[in-house]
Amino acid sequence: MQSTEIAKTTTPTDRTGPHPAMRSALPKIPFNRPYATGNEFGYIGEAIENLHLSGNGPFGERCASWLEQTLGCQRALLTSSCTSALEMAMLVAGIGPGDEVVMPSFTFVTTASSVVMRGAVPVFVDVREDTLNLDESQVEAAISERTRAILPVHYAGVGCDLDGIAAIAAHYGLTLIEDAAQGISAFYEGRPLGTVGDLGCVSFHETKNLICGEGGALLINRTDWVQRAEVVQEKGTDRADFLRGGVDRYTWIDLGSSFLMSEIKAAFLWAQIELAQEILARRLSIWRAYHERLASLEQAGLLRRPSIPVGREHNAHMYYILCADRRTRDWLIARLAESNIHALFHYVPLHSAPAGRRFGQTPAAMPVTDRVSETLLRLPLWVQMSEAEVERVCVAIEEAYESFPTSP
Ligand SMILES: *Cc1c(COP(=O)(O)O)cnc(C)c1O
Repeated sequence: MQSTEIAKTTTPTDRTGPHPAMRSALPKIPFNRPYATGNEFGYIGEAIENLHLSGNGPFGERCASWLEQTLGCQRALLTSSCTSALEMAMLVAGIGPGDEVVMPSFTFVTTASSVVMRGAVPVFVDVREDTLNLDESQVEAAISERTRAILPVHYAGVGCDLDGIAAIAAHYGLTLIEDAAQGISAFYEGRPLGTVGDLGCVSFHETKNLICGEGGALLINRTDWVQRAEVVQEKGTDRADFLRGGVDRYTWIDLGSSFLMSEIKAAFLWAQIELAQEILARRLSIWRAYHERLASLEQAGLLRRPSIPVGREHNAHMYYILCADRRTRDWLIARLAESNIHALFHYVPLHSAPAGRRFGQTPAAMPVTDRVSETLLRLPLWVQMSEAEVERVCVAIEEAYESFPTSP
């Protein structure tokens, strides 16, 4: 396996010729490059010296308190991933067999699979044209007697219409769970994403803004759910209460699993949290550089840039463009690859994915989701990306459009 891989890239007589990217003399601009602040090693060393390596140790406590204080949630529990946080959320909210959860189809797999793991049914609703977030005007039509929760996603770290969605949830007595995987350091009407719903789920995966490899957090915004969430996180036991001295031994009291983040990862995460403002500022400046530079292509009607509604403070998690059609998008990906620039499409809509069709329901047509999935292109954006690299991406896009064939 390995030897054929090497042969493929080194044999010039390969009948397909060298990969276009290899023709380019320009250094590669990857789509993402995880950023380490430099303090991670030191903190991991400290964690090892502390001899507390499992979850909720000193670094875990520090990270959780930071989340609680800066975001203003009742409790933050660190998890092994945002997927774990979503799975915890379903247990805490008591989602069970036959229950329905309304969510977008234009999202990551585990927004829906966390629901399916409980024997419940994801009900897919289309997204809005402007933010690519759940279209609140279509949510009510998807609600049935079995609906238990609404699960909106803040795509690209731009808040969805939380007031509108929260009003619907309150009216029908539904739980509101925010998939804020991409939402750290972003706000809706001054409120941090993940803290408006009953529960919020955050990701620290290496592709997100603050990272620890694989990690996440469940934000609990209801006081009466805090203890339940602690039990779910501690494998269904009252161990958290025991450690506080509330009970004299701990035992199995409810459903749960091993959802904790290890102390090694929390030490890494703490280094990131300390530089959260710098990381945010750097990402925002790259985002703005793209946005200004690509304005003329939008004015020329060639592409669409992201739009940020008033009252939303985004976190520059992602910069995307929307092309006219799939052919243009795929062509642009190929042109950028020739310049050694790695740009990416995004979600295959869950309602049309094999498992989404098997486990989910799609009560109405999904024109925006279907179109966006075919036309969206994500551009490289990472903390140490230079201005020259941003410029190179923009020039490559401009040159590509100048040479775009007008007929197929
Ligand atoms: C990244 C992401 C997840 C999953 O996060 P992990 O930490 O990788 O489990 C879930 N939902 C959305 C919208 C995401 O972007």
